[in-house]
Amino acid sequence: MSNPTDSYEAVVIGGGAAGVTVVGNLLEQKFEPILWVDNAFNGGRINRCYREVPSNTKVALFIDFATAVAPFRKIVSNTPSRSRWEEPSESDGVSVSGKPDKLQALRNLEQAKGCQLSHAADMLLMLTEGLAKTPGVIAQKARVSDATLDEGTKKWTINLTSPVSSEQTDRVPVSANRLIMCTGSSPNNSPLPVEIPSLHVLDLDCALSPTLLSTTLTPLGPTSVAVIGASHSAILVLMNLYNLARTSKPDLRIKWLTRHPLRYAEQRDGWILRDNTGLKGAAAEWARNNLEPDTMPTSDVAKYVSKVAYTSGAEKETYEQHLQGVDFYVQAIGYSRDPIPTLKTSSGREIEPVFDHENGHFSYAGEGKDQQALQKLPGLFGAGIAWPARVVDPEGNVEYAVGFFKFMKHVKKVIGSWI
Ligand SMILES: Cc1cc2nc3c(=O)[nH]c(=O)nc-3n(C[C@H](O)[C@H](O)[C@H](O)COP(=O)(O)OP(=O)(O)OC[C@H]3O[C@@H](n4cnc5c(N)ncnc54)[C@H](O)[C@@H]3O)c2cc1C
Repeated sequence: MSNPTDSYEAVVIGGGAAGVTVVGNLLEQKFEPILWVDNAFNGGRINRCYREVPSNTKVALFIDFATAVAPFRKIVSNTPSRSRWEEPSESDGVSVSGKPDKLQALRNLEQAKGCQLSHAADMLLMLTEGLAKTPGVIAQKARVSDATLDEGTKKWTINLTSPVSSEQTDRVPVSANRLIMCTGSSPNNSPLPVEIPSLHVLDLDCALSPTLLSTTLTPLGPTSVAVIGASHSAILVLMNLYNLARTSKPDLRIKWLTRHPLRYAEQRDGWILRDNTGLKGAAAEWARNNLEPDTMPTSDVAKYVSKVAYTSGAEKETYEQHLQGVDFYVQAIGYSRDPIPTLKTSSGREIEPVFDHENGHFSYAGEGKDQQALQKLPGLFGAGIAWPARVVDPEGNVEYAVGFFKFMKHVKKVIGSWI
């Protein structure tokens, strides 16, 4: 654990793609010392849960991410750097002549296509290891339990606890001018509006892994699974279930409950419609070939998957009718922010931070008669899937920008205002 008297320019919470992005950018701005805290430092959810998932972004974008800032380029390059903050040179960039860099596995793939996320996860782990060894970064395996803002000095006191326990004992305080939350999100799993005692939850993270899915379902007898949703994750789950049924578990039957037609990302002139919410890559191709009204009836998929279309508001009746007798259900209906550390002021007032998607800053309610008015929350920032940028496309559609390279682009744009 860190020394309680330690004081940092920034404490960054989270070792996923967003935390890696933020630490790389702070270092590029020569902004240190940085205390980097994560429960496990194992690449966040991409490595923990989605190694077997096909990416929805092109390989080239993962390479762009891994070479976007000078500290990354130094890690990626196999050439020892001459001085710490030298300008990027040929040896920091792609591959040094005759000497492959640490991105060879990604470089060997087809650049304009997607890949298995294990490749992206390995790249994150490589950067994590490199950043943890970079002078100016102290990587601490711990959990941030709570943080207190001194409204006078504008400094944060941040408490670290054991990475696994939720006990508030043995808290180690550190002090920092900035607290940057890259805390991540998890699948939504709200209770269904019906009670069917024989129906069990199948965790979305499990259903996204063909290996775990097979381990869970194959030993059972005839099994039925309902998939709720039409998101990118829903399609991946349907693919996994279908592949399991057609290979090792022919007694598996799947019901697909969807409220709307499939929505695809579409290339427009210089921009992408539904860039963050539409189906892309392998999931889009599989859905087009097997799940559309004109392809599903003749697809082999229809032997195992039956579709139940319903309208918003008709959930209760639809579930009552179609989930009776079903063994498991998976909800693939989006992701929500993971709980964040408790935040308060030194006078004991609880802080409910309100995020600004434009610049990664937060605001909070004032005290006394200013209670209604939101004011800038000093030194607190956010990035990543939990705290994304809001983007408006040329047709006026609003989306949240989620993805490695999107985090990178946004953090690069706003970091000047954080420091
Ligand atoms: C199924 C799926 C597929 C995706 N595919 C792609 C893709 O192909 N390409 C792409 O670019 N993006 C993809 N994404 C989007 C995005 O890149 C990932 O969601 C990514 O994991 C988000 O990174 P993150 O750092 O914001 O969050 P996470 O990966 O969840 O990392 C958050 C980290 O913070 C830690 N943490 C949280 N709170 C605390 C605390 N109090 N103390 C200590 N540690 C804490 C957690 O343990 C975790 O390690 C995908 C997302 C999903 C869900």
